[in-house]
Amino acid sequence: MSVHSMQASDTIIALATPSGIGAIGVIRLSGPDAISLVNEVFHGKDLSVQHSHTIHFGTIRDGRHVLDEVLVSVFIGPKSYTRENVVEISTHGSPYIIESIIKLLIRKGARAANPGEFTLRAFLNGQLDLSQAEAVADLIASNSQASHQVAMQQMRGGFSSELQHLRDQLIHFASMIELELDFGEEDVEFANRDDLKALIYQINRILNKLIASFEQGNVMKNGVPVVIAGKPNVGKSTLLNALLNEERAIVSEIAGTTRDTVEDEMVIGGLRFRFIDTAGIRETEDIIEAKGVERTHEKIKQAKLIIYLIDPAQDIAEIKEQITYLGSLGIPFLTVMNKKDLVTSEFENQLSVISYHPITSGLSESSTERSSEDSGNRQETTDKRIIYISAKNKTGIEELKSEILRKVNLHAINTDDVLISNIRHLEALQKTQESLNRVLENIDNPVTSDFLAMDIKQALYYLGEITGQVTTDDLLETIFSKFCIGK
Ligand code: GDP
Repeated sequence: MSVHSMQASDTIIALATPSGIGAIGVIRLSGPDAISLVNEVFHGKDLSVQHSHTIHFGTIRDGRHVLDEVLVSVFIGPKSYTRENVVEISTHGSPYIIESIIKLLIRKGARAANPGEFTLRAFLNGQLDLSQAEAVADLIASNSQASHQVAMQQMRGGFSSELQHLRDQLIHFASMIELELDFGEEDVEFANRDDLKALIYQINRILNKLIASFEQGNVMKNGVPVVIAGKPNVGKSTLLNALLNEERAIVSEIAGTTRDTVEDEMVIGGLRFRFIDTAGIRETEDIIEAKGVERTHEKIKQAKLIIYLIDPAQDIAEIKEQITYLGSLGIPFLTVMNKKDLVTSEFENQLSVISYHPITSGLSESSTERSSEDSGNRQETTDKRIIYISAKNKTGIEELKSEILRKVNLHAINTDDVLISNIRHLEALQKTQESLNRVLENIDNPVTSDFLAMDIKQALYYLGEITGQVTTDDLLETIFSKFCIGK
């Protein structure tokens, strides 16, 4: 079905809470007949005469058969999530009751909602722009302070208003240039070229900032992929467990929390870290020996951080060689000495030479460059340092966690900066920039104004794709089909 052509003349219904047994279940309806349909089966008060934003107790009956005692919330459009009439029925959380009530209301004329259809209607009715609607899905999926923050900021209009403002200014120039075209041969210039250039430089600065924010936004939303590399038996699994155990202890305190999440993900300092699958970790056992092996190489390249785990049984020359290899990858890495309970002072002394060895200083610089890009402060000493831990005795783990956070530059987690986290937005911003750069190229060339107008329009198109002034059915379909039913 074409989403654009969909008339919101029908009333949709869906369970808004998770399926299965719960304390309560919330059934939601939206559309012109939401209130009247529920009124037909609700016994208590006449819902059609109630004020908006009110809650009413009563029973839902199928004929004379009482299905449940419920609370009904009434929202009269446009003051509702979808801007249509919305009713939410809070029932006892029995899948049987919920199914019966939904079936009853469908029999009365409601239609089962498609995934994301409530939010789609909110978008089509102008309640949210497209990037805000997408943020609703991100917010529901958020599982850490960082991902919550990015989604919340975007939902509350984060960069929408900024883009809207830029778009308005560009529209002004586009219309001025079109006006020039209307005058044809007369060689008039309504759009001041210098002003246009200045505007494009200004827009480009903002675009650059937004485009550059993707890396952090993406990591905050999707988590940081981490590889623990090291030879067999250095303690990779023990370390992973030590890191996870604390997390698990916290999680299990929350009653009813299911622990079926992926075992090798954890939140450190509000940020989700994804330890690249255990198979991957096992593969990295040989990664250093098998430098040239493409597959392991690829695995490691996905990482935003490498923890290179060593132990005192290892040969120092080998450690140096491996640090050289890892440093050449250009991915931030931490060298971590496990089993510090077994480390002799002699070994430690020999190893400390590594920290100031000419080979490693080169690597450290390449990795500090990465982090200094964002933080602006060089961390050469920490980069060259080896962190001592005992995974088995759980010592040094807190320090390791802070080092991990420092490496991924997370003092910025509480940033008020606008961050983009969506690949679709990134691509649209890049295309906007390409079009604007073409405008800049043509502005000083003796080309006709049509080219300028065309490229400005392209830029407007791509900007509009982000906030949804420009959409296609396919785009909406792709975005909203990823939502859950009932949202
Ligand atoms: P992996 O092969 O790298 O995953 O290594 P494991 O995590 O399986 O650990 C290998 C062995 O090292 C196990 O017997 C661990 O108990 C032991 N081990 C891990 N951490 C420490 C530590 O901090 N000190 C000591 N002494 N042994 C450790």
